[in-house]
Amino acid sequence: MNQETKTVDRMLIKEQVDSLRDGKVVGYTCTACDKDSITPIVRCPECGSGDITTKIFASTGTILTYTIQRVASELFINDVPYAWIIVQLDDGGPRVTGWIPYVSKPEDVAVGDKVKITTSYKPGFMFEKS
Ligand SMILES: [Zn+2]
Repeated sequence: MNQETKTVDRMLIKEQVDSLRDGKVVGYTCTACDKDSITPIVRCPECGSGDITTKIFASTGTILTYTIQRVASELFINDVPYAWIIVQLDDGGPRVTGWIPYVSKPEDVAVGDKVKITTSYKPGFMFEKS
């Protein structure tokens, strides 16, 4: 990864984080083949096109799978236990990973539960059940 790519990645991630504070999920899409990505990309992994634009995805979705996290990285050490989830965003959006705080038992969360993104002071996508 060269310096120019690193700078572009930082700019894209800042845009995404700033938008999340407003409750908007900004991702990226390839205008050549419509490949969507929640991860910042400067070149399409499917077709190789560099014609990438931002796209706002739904801030709601459905839990595809989850695990209850009881051991976490230093950044989340005061938040355990919580559910680490994979969500299919509504309206054909991409799958994203995120977390739901205060989940300690399997009965607290289920595959198929509807969730929505909430604002958080932590990095990444924090969800709540909707
Ligand atoms: Zn493409």
